[in-house]
Order: sequence, then structure tokens, then C-alpha cells
Amino acid sequence: MAKVINLAERREQKIQKQLHSPMQGWIVWLKCPKCETREYSELRMPEGRIHKCGTMVEEHEVEIDIRAELTVSLRNSELISELLAKSNAKGIMKKFLKSGRAMLEHLERSEEEYRKRLQLMSQQECTPYPEEWDPEEKGLEIKKMDPLGLQLTAARQPELYFPDAS
Ligand SMILES: [Zn+2]
Repeated sequence: MAKVINLAERREQKIQKQLHSPMQGWIVWLKCPKCETREYSELRMPEGRIHKCGTMVEEHEVEIDIRAELTVSLRNSELISELLAKSNAKGIMKKFLKSGRAMLEHLERSEEEYRKRLQLMSQQECTPYPEEWDPEEKGLEIKKMDPLGLQLTAARQPELYFPDAS
């Protein structure tokens, strides 16, 4: 007997799969041993690269799920905009109003820059995971930044890859 294909079910499965399928990418951490600078790049260069001072940089490639990184970054931005809104009002943020605002704006720019790089490395349109997606449940190591509660994925912690650096 032929198997009855349930099209609606198939369609639903496909949607679920798209909602939860990761998108592979790489973040490359670069360290100049001479200048002691660290930065990241979305470009993999097997031949290596030279810092502006003329020194060959140390490289460390970190495999990432672009969607996971995007989702965590968007959640950080959401939190930052909530904190910025609070800093306009009276209350807990008031005591560090001016420097607090500048710091939050700086953090927001880093999040935007990070997402720009993620978009550059993804071959197709990249969408965040749904609301209920939990990075830690998925085995992603997250470091919470005190006191704001922003979340740093392993891909954004260069000290993990260059442990000797201070
Ligand atoms: Zn250098």
C-alpha cells in the first residue's frame, strides 16, 4: 500500500528545519605579537597576513554558527537599548549617567559591527533563531558580562585563543 504523504506535515517539518538549522562560518582572531593588538576578521587567509608594523600575525580560526552569533548579538542590542531607555529615567542607571551612556553606545556599536561582519560572511540572508532558542541548551558557552548582563559567545573571547596575553 502506498504511503500517504501528508503535505501539510511535510511543509511544517521544512519550516521547523529552517527555523533551527545552523549556518556555518568562521571568525578569525588575529594577534600581532609585536604590537600586542588583537582583532577579529571575517576573512580566512590560508597564506597568513602581515600587520601594519610588518610582523606576521598569529591567527586562530574559530568555527561558529552564524545564526547563533547573530541571535545573541541581537539580544545584546535589545538589552542595551532597554538600558539606554532606563538611563534617561531616574533610577538605578542615574548614578553613572554620562559615562554609562557613552559606554552603552560604544557597546552597541561593537554589536552592530559584529553583525555587519556576520552578514558579510554568510552566503545568503541570515535570520536569527526564534525567541525560545536557548544558546546554553544548544551547548554554546556563554560568558555573562557583569554588571550589564550582556552575553559573550566563545567566538568573541580572544583570551581563549591567546591565553598568554594579559
Ligand atoms: Zn604589529
